[in-house]
Amino acid sequence: MRVLILGGTAEARALAALLVADGDEVVTSLAGRVARPRLPEGETRVGGFGGAAALAAYARDFDAVVDATHPFAATISANAASIDVPMIRLARPGWTDPGGWHWADDHTEAAAEAARLGERPVLTTGRQALGHFVGPLVRHTVLARVVDPPDVEVPQTWRVLLDRGPYHLDGERALLAGHRADVLVTKDSGGDHTRPKLDAAAELGIAVVVVRRPAPPAGVSLVDDVDDARRWVRGGAA
Ligand code: NAP
Repeated sequence: MRVLILGGTAEARALAALLVADGDEVVTSLAGRVARPRLPEGETRVGGFGGAAALAAYARDFDAVVDATHPFAATISANAASIDVPMIRLARPGWTDPGGWHWADDHTEAAAEAARLGERPVLTTGRQALGHFVGPLVRHTVLARVVDPPDVEVPQTWRVLLDRGPYHLDGERALLAGHRADVLVTKDSGGDHTRPKLDAAAELGIAVVVVRRPAPPAGVSLVDDVDDARRWVRGGAA
């Protein structure tokens, strides 16, 4: 099988490794947002396609497409939903609220909620979302953790920490305690790589604001597990 994986996630890399081992020809597509991406096995192409029609044209060269992009990558997933090659969406399950998380429908709502709940927020919502938080948190003492430097100017009361997961409980505890955080803001990315911050926040009694996922595109088959995606390919992507 010739398989196109829309990637940028740990699940996409895991699936690429499995399919390469199965003998498939795998091309993983990356957006090119991160300066030093972790590269998957198989071939890699980098950069946007130039919209839905261009992606559809590119995808015609493949037997199957797995959209394994991040649960918050809504535009590429909407574009992928309209291609005319067999495709599925692979998205890891969201996190389970232990009770007491503050859910926000988007980053704007999350920023207002963080401003209301604390004075010393830790933001882990990603570089692209930071702009939504600057206004509402301009006077807060913010620690913003991002993989690559922000492309917006951040207030003087903010500290930007460049780092990349996976993260571990000890480190997350030290990060939150060190900042004397009173609120942690995250999106519902799901998975284990960035989960320990939530456990640390629970231990330390820190409020948690979680941005809800965008709805997946209508009419697309969904799997939440890498092995299920592999089985779908092995079954002829039917
Ligand atoms: P997005 O808003 O859904 O996509 C914006 C545009 O970026 C798309 O229209 C497409 O450009 C291009 N693009 C996105 N993913 C691509 C891919 N895998 N291959 C080629 N082009 C891609 O996506 P995003 O939220 O900016 O995320 C960008 C990438 O980072 C995704 O691949 C995602 O898996 C990864 N990522 C995102 C997050 C997050 O929180 N959003 C977190 C971790 C990793 P064209 O229209 O020109 O084709």
